[in-house]
Amino acid sequence: MGELGSELAEAVSGAGALAHLHELQRIADAHDGNRAPGTTGFAASVAYATEVLATVGYQVTTQDVPYPRFAVTAERTRLTGSDWQPQTLLMDDSPPLRDTVAPLIVLTRFKQLAEGSLDVAGAVVLLARIPGGYAKQVIAASEAGALAALFYTETPCPANNYRLHWFGSEPPPIPAASIAQDDAARLAALAAAVTVELRLDWHGDRTSGVDQNVFAATGADGDARIVVGAHLDSVPEAPGINDNGSGVAAVLQAAVKLATARESVSHQVTFALWAAEELVNAGSSYYVSQLTDAQRQAIRLYLNAEMIASPNYVLYVMRGEGTVTTPFDVYFRARDIAYEYIDEAKVGSDHDPFLAAGISAGGLHCGSVGIKTPAEQERYAGTAGQLFDPGYHQASDTVRNISPAALDWTTRALAYAVGWAAQEVRLA
Ligand SMILES: [Zn+2]
Repeated sequence: MGELGSELAEAVSGAGALAHLHELQRIADAHDGNRAPGTTGFAASVAYATEVLATVGYQVTTQDVPYPRFAVTAERTRLTGSDWQPQTLLMDDSPPLRDTVAPLIVLTRFKQLAEGSLDVAGAVVLLARIPGGYAKQVIAASEAGALAALFYTETPCPANNYRLHWFGSEPPPIPAASIAQDDAARLAALAAAVTVELRLDWHGDRTSGVDQNVFAATGADGDARIVVGAHLDSVPEAPGINDNGSGVAAVLQAAVKLATARESVSHQVTFALWAAEELVNAGSSYYVSQLTDAQRQAIRLYLNAEMIASPNYVLYVMRGEGTVTTPFDVYFRARDIAYEYIDEAKVGSDHDPFLAAGISAGGLHCGSVGIKTPAEQERYAGTAGQLFDPGYHQASDTVRNISPAALDWTTRALAYAVGWAAQEVRLA
């Protein structure tokens, strides 16, 4: 058992994966610092992955993925009577504000809106996000008569700014944007002393885009197939090296090292690099939606790699209904590498549409905006009290924003799982 898996795990390495990360960094550097959906940076990422796979002999195919998106045309916020322009990131689908001046009201508790203890009519309200609840907060601010909402995220990295996404079927009732916690504190300090007025130029358009999924497949008949994937796009704010260059690099490593044996596997393996995951799994969802019943039934396992080299990592194996953990359990236990399970629903990546379609899935993850506990520091080193990935969705998600040790383990474990699934396992 595990022969091809072990061979592949030996053949790949973190150093090999790192070489791909440097190429993805170079691509981002040459394309406005990112590889986001609908950009030349994404197109260059597709070209790079295609070249890597074609060079070792794969027939590379692509699939056009149409997706809706919100294109920001302005997200400028200025303090009247000041040169300071704090960075604000507009939330998707926000109704437009064109050069609009409004007073700032600082909320210290979200409940102040419901209590009606502050008059926020016509104002921009500044408030901390509550976990999982900003949609509710936007609606409450609107009902209280606010003009707009400005959110900050309480985090051990207070200079970070995280863009918010709106998931409602109708646009939000008022526009919303996000600001770094540091900048929010500065605004609040100013507002405690004087009346602060903001000039907002916030607008964008609901539009659509088309990007490519990239595929390379081994031989073997299609009765039982394995799909192994990672998303190739970044957010517009980041080069996307841990998120998700790391997953891409591991998939490319496994594909390259399997290339010489690609006609002798028992089960066909399709390597997939997904478009527009950052627009909620657009590429993988489209792929699954286009499968015939027979094609869907032929896929016995989907393996996903999402943020697998977080600098302050925990080694997570995804687990939940419909998931497979066996190859990762076998690999890590045999080598005495500490790891643990994470509920797959907490990862939120391209395995979601496969599980939703009744296809088994498994995968690796090293943490994003969760905070490392002292017990986790004990087990994995790193820094307790700090984010697993301080660079998540930030310009700092560069080649310096990874753990080489984590990248080596996860790259090898993913390759082991690919070999395990391709050769050794009788897939019912
Ligand atoms: Zn990601």
